[in-house]
Amino acid sequence: NNPVVAIDGPSGAGKSTTAKTLATAIGAGYLDTGAMYRAATLAALDAEVDLSSADEILSALNEAKLEIGTTVEDPYARLNGESVDLEIRTERVTAAVSQVAGHKKVREHLISEQKAAINAARKKGGIVVEGRDIAEVVAPEADLKVYLTADEKARASRRALEIGATASDTAEDIKRRDKADSKTTKPMEAADGAHVIDSTKLSVVEVVAKLLALLND
Ligand code: C5P
Repeated sequence: NNPVVAIDGPSGAGKSTTAKTLATAIGAGYLDTGAMYRAATLAALDAEVDLSSADEILSALNEAKLEIGTTVEDPYARLNGESVDLEIRTERVTAAVSQVAGHKKVREHLISEQKAAINAARKKGGIVVEGRDIAEVVAPEADLKVYLTADEKARASRRALEIGATASDTAEDIKRRDKADSKTTKPMEAADGAHVIDSTKLSVVEVVAKLLALLND
């Protein structure tokens, strides 16, 4: 029945791995909305526009033609037809993304693209969408809403592993980003109707098993 699954939560909570594993298990698509904010940030940085201006960011983004893959096998991010999968994970982008994502106009633009991708997936296979505001704003009609969290230490060491940094540097980065993000996306808490899962002591397989049970309920 082509389910739409919303997975929200702070960075390092295990959203990406969980979302991809679940999508594979149920044969659904996958959308990483964080990658869209990151790509928008990269486009703005490359165009050297003023990051305090939503209009300038939006024109840089329109110019750069963002494309995003919606499958687990190939969740590409492209600007002007070129892959930016690695560039969007660099420190340069990570440090600026909260500011870019803080603009209402930028959010509205990306959210309408996210909604379009979800509508398309409703007709074929469903989709697992990860982000910060999916259950609240992007897909309030989702069949399953999950708020994935983990304690600070677990989140820092997971992020550190992902990006090859030390856990203490990463802990600082996560704290700073949580604080900046909570001003704009606000949901650093679970949306109404979301199932809260603390992944601190759970493996990916255990988390996904819980989600499958909830989906089949
Ligand atoms: O999930 P990830 O860490 O890649 O997200 C990067 C940034 O994009 C977040 O720190 C946040 O500023 C922004 N974001 C957002 N809303 C989303 C997903 C990500 O504001 N739905």
